[in-house]
Parts: sequence; C-alpha cells; structure tokens
Amino acid sequence: MSHINIPFFLPHMGCTQRCVYCDQNLIANEKLPAEEEFRRKVEAYLEASKKADSMEIAFFGGSFTVLPREVQKKYLSLAAEYVGKGAIRGIRFSTRPDAIDHEIINFLEEYPVTTIELGVQSADERVLTASKRGHDLVDILKSTSIVKRRGYRLGIQMMTGLPGDDYERSVYTADKIAALRPQFVRIYPTLVLKGTILEQMMNRGEYIPWEIEETLELADVIMSIFLRENIPVIRLGLYSENPDFESNIAAGPYHPALKSLVLSRMYRNRLEERLAGSGDIHLKVSPFDVSTAYGHGGQNRQYFMEKYGRRLCVKSEETLPRYCFEYQGRHVPLYKENL
Ligand code: SF4
Repeated sequence: MSHINIPFFLPHMGCTQRCVYCDQNLIANEKLPAEEEFRRKVEAYLEASKKADSMEIAFFGGSFTVLPREVQKKYLSLAAEYVGKGAIRGIRFSTRPDAIDHEIINFLEEYPVTTIELGVQSADERVLTASKRGHDLVDILKSTSIVKRRGYRLGIQMMTGLPGDDYERSVYTADKIAALRPQFVRIYPTLVLKGTILEQMMNRGEYIPWEIEETLELADVIMSIFLRENIPVIRLGLYSENPDFESNIAAGPYHPALKSLVLSRMYRNRLEERLAGSGDIHLKVSPFDVSTAYGHGGQNRQYFMEKYGRRLCVKSEETLPRYCFEYQGRHVPLYKENL
C-alpha cells in the first residue's frame, strides 16, 4: 500500500527553544507558503500521485501546535478543504511532547487531523536535558497517551547518539517507545550540523560524534525491537533534498542510504550467528530483499568471502515475507531473538 505525504515545512516555527543538534533551515530551505502557493503544491501532488493509496497533507520541521492559533486555523482549514473533497485522507503534523494536551486536541478535533508525530528523541532525562529539549519523560508519556486515547495515529521520532546518550540509553529509549505502541517510528542518528550548538560542544570536546560502525550495531538492536513488535520504521537516517545539506555535516554517522545499510548488517549478523557447514552459503529471501541480503554494494558477499572463504548465494523466494530468510531449511527472522 503506497502512502504519500504532501509536505509543508515550517522550519523552527513554534519551537520554544533550540535543541542543540537542530537546524531545520538546512534540512528544508522552505517556509509556510501563501494560500495560492499552498493550493498549487497540493494540486500538483494530486495530479502526479493518482496511483497513491492514501495521501496526507503534512506539516513538518517545527512545532505545529505551538504556532499562533490563527496560523494553525488557516492551514488546517485549507488542508481540510481537500480532505472534504475526498482527495486527501487527512492531515498530519509533527510537534513537541509538551505541546499536546486535551485543550489542544479539543481545538484540533474541528479539523480532519489523522496523524500526530511527536519528537520524543530520548526517554532518558539526562539526554533530554543535555540536548536542551525543554521537556521531560512525563511530557512524553502524557502526550503519547493523549494522542492515542483521542484516536489519532501516533508517530514517534527517536534519536540515537545525542549528548549524554550511550548504547544502553538508546536501547532503553527504543524499548520505552515500543511499549507506547506507536503506529510508526522514525529513527535519526545524531549528526553534527555546522553552525549548531552541538558543533560548538564537539569543538570544545564536550561531545564525541558517533561512528557509523557503532551506529550500525546499535541500529541492529533498535530495529530488532521495532520489527519484533511489528512497529514500522518508516525512516532511518536524516535525509534532505537541500543540495547544501551534505556539505554542512561537520561529523557523525551519515550515509545517504543508512536504512539499507542497517538492514544489510542485520542480514549479515543473523546469518553469521547461525553459520554452519562449509562451502557456498545458500539463502532464500523475499524478492524485495535480495540486494539487501547481499549487502549494500555487495558488502555481505565480500564479508563472508573474506572472513570465511565462502560464497554467499541469495535466491528470491516469492512465498517469503520481507525481513526474514530461509537458511538450511529454517525460517529466520531478521530481528535479534535474544534481546
Ligand atoms: S528538534 Fe524540533 S523542537 Fe527542537 S529545535 Fe528542532 S524543530 Fe524545534
């Protein structure tokens, strides 16, 4: 089932303070458009995406529910028109955990909002404080509970490698988030963007950026938690269409196809844990996962050849679901079973 968001960015609008790692202007060099431009964009998406199963008008990059009510009303009403015509399923936006309460939801109820994404980032108080998030775990628990009880789809954004974070705290955060049963999750390993407070912290030696290798091994565990719980991870890794984005990354575990890299590593790890016999290694996977099982750029094939002198042979098998494989007649899930 294909879903498309018609994205509108409100860089930092409504943010009550600046989180140390954040520069939304670099991620999307846009601002909320005037009405005419808004309509043009929605209609262009509708024309180009006739085959999509569902579409939402989405407001990202800031704290939507902190915007002045008049601004919220203007864009919610505009978006609601398209939902009323049946062209769009609903409205989604991202906001802060301390910017959702029953009064705010009462206001939103007048509009066809379907999905609320909360920037949770970490469940560890030290990490939240060191990252200057300006909210605590109680805000996270309250807001997620309100969003779910009031019948909205809940999306949660988490980050790894924030100041004060470590392997255990990231895994703890993933466990806490999974227990909240969101409809989907986005995972963003922390990047040090030029001009941010985090870059200053790094330059003063107060923050050490994470390496890609430790991020991959951590992501194996975190993805395993969400896969096991059937919670879709709809994004892993920061992405931007801004051509200047990559040149403004000062440090951190950046890769343009990080999710694919992580899934490849999961295939490698699960297979290696079960490796038996000798000679060629024969796997069967879903047709969608053949290249991932071979590894990003053939990395897994190279790994097994160099380490074990064995050739990895991956076969497509229509009957297999995604994110698992068949090895030596046994069905193996991609998630770590002994978490
Ligand atoms: S992370 Fe969210 S709340 Fe923090 S500065 Fe960025 S947009 Fe604002």
